[in-house]
Amino acid sequence: MWDAIVSTGTWSGEIWNRRKNGEIFPAWTTITAVRRRDGVVSHYVGTFTDITQRRAAEDEIRHLAFYDALTQLPNRRLMLDRLRQALTASARHGRHGALMLFDLDDFKTLNDTLGHDVGDQFLIEVAARMESCIRECDTVARLGGDEFVVILEELDAGLLAAMQAESVAVKIQGALNQPYLLDLSLAGGEANTRSYHCTSSIGITLFRGHDVDVDELLKRADTAMYQAKAAGRNTLRFFDPQMQAAVSVRATLDTDLRAAIGESQFVLHYQPQVDGSGRMTGVEALLRWQHPRRGLVMPAEFIDQAEATRLIMPLGRWVLETACRQLAEWAGQAGREGLDIAVNVSGRQFHQADFVDQVKAVLATTGADPRRLKLEVTESLLLHDIEDVVARMAQLRALGINFALDDFGTGYSSLYYLKRLPLAQLKIDQSFVRDVLIDANDAAIARTVIALGQSLGLAVIAEGVETPGQRDFLKLHGCHAFQGNLFGVACGAEKLFSEAAAERRDG
Ligand code: C2E
Ligand code: MG
Ligand code: MG
Repeated sequence: MWDAIVSTGTWSGEIWNRRKNGEIFPAWTTITAVRRRDGVVSHYVGTFTDITQRRAAEDEIRHLAFYDALTQLPNRRLMLDRLRQALTASARHGRHGALMLFDLDDFKTLNDTLGHDVGDQFLIEVAARMESCIRECDTVARLGGDEFVVILEELDAGLLAAMQAESVAVKIQGALNQPYLLDLSLAGGEANTRSYHCTSSIGITLFRGHDVDVDELLKRADTAMYQAKAAGRNTLRFFDPQMQAAVSVRATLDTDLRAAIGESQFVLHYQPQVDGSGRMTGVEALLRWQHPRRGLVMPAEFIDQAEATRLIMPLGRWVLETACRQLAEWAGQAGREGLDIAVNVSGRQFHQADFVDQVKAVLATTGADPRRLKLEVTESLLLHDIEDVVARMAQLRALGINFALDDFGTGYSSLYYLKRLPLAQLKIDQSFVRDVLIDANDAAIARTVIALGQSLGLAVIAEGVETPGQRDFLKLHGCHAFQGNLFGVACGAEKLFSEAAAERRDG
């Protein structure tokens, strides 16, 4: 039939095919056109080869090349690749990253005494725990033995990156510190289990862009890891001494703060709040830390940290209790019974599920008059569920407690929120008061806050008033309540009524 078979052109490639049972499989396909002698294509010949097996073998090879066979984590090769990609991404986005090297303390002993099968079982569990602690954009890899690497991406700048890296490292360290239940039957023993404890030493180095290459980064993480080992294990070290110093200071602050709460090292100072004639109408309670080595420490140095570690909860409660006890004491003293105390309440503290109950309990135990208590909140409160904030404030308001909006003008200053919150007072932030006489913008803001208060029926108090000129300007524009060094600095309760009082009258 065919005069001759002339094959002209062959196409081959991989296509997806379907088996009779409906299953899809990859098929290697070759199609050849067959022409008659006169050049007209008469047939196509196709061959199909099922390459499922080959594909699986290729995948297997790829997996073996890039993943650790024991833990299924990326191996050293893939880790290096990811690290290079991370550096490139960091250069493109300007974000920081961290390379962390984990070494398990005493793994060798476990391996030597209980055997490799038990050691393997342990490493698989370690890998799973590490993976559960990181985000999707991060990488955990096993370098071999008991060495693991974590690459963190998309961190914030500088010190923040160090703190973020530290917190992930601490989280992983915590997970690794939990007891392990090892199956000893693997070691050929009886079918029994044994609880095992493990600590880890961690070296951390930060990166940004291609400032430092991959090899150097690994060396740095390694150096830091050996420093962690030398420092007594179960610990972490940064390569960069500056980062290490910052993290150490924070860690010391944290330990000290915890001790301080236990050992009652806190004191409340009170700063007068006065009316237009300079008469003291109340005080703001300001927290001070009587540190055994550092002396009197101001809140700017520890409030943020207390918030971050939730220590603000017991601390805030202590402040509230101490202020309420003071109110109850003044209630029985002629000339002091009408004084208000303003207490700062942090966002974290306010959002605790039982905050309202806590306040009620403190009022009940101290016997303080809720109408003399003023809670100072900031606009950051409104970052959360506004309905919940309004509901809580309303419950406290119903008890007679007043609210002041602190640092007003530095946050959102949304009129919508202002109208919805049951506030009694706006506090003009001291940053506007400071330059009210020399900066036209600050003067305009101060005047606007006063006008806003008047139109919403809210009292307005200016904080940080230091000079008669500032006071007179604010008075002229309708502000008749002040707080600031001009009228008295924060001091212990008894001092409030001695020399400071005399100075206030002169003002
Ligand atoms: P704040 O509530 O805005 O308190 C006013 C701050 O301004 C106080 O600083 C006060 O000492 C200072 N100040 C008052 N008058 C003047 C002045 O004329 N000139 C200048 N330059 N400063 C003045 P302090 O005591 O260092 O407190 C800082 C912040 O720490 C407070 O700002 C408040 O946000 C927070 N804080 C203080 N005590 C507590 C507390 O018990 N709980 C919470 N959550 N935060 C607190
Ligand atoms: Mg305040
Ligand atoms: Mg303030």
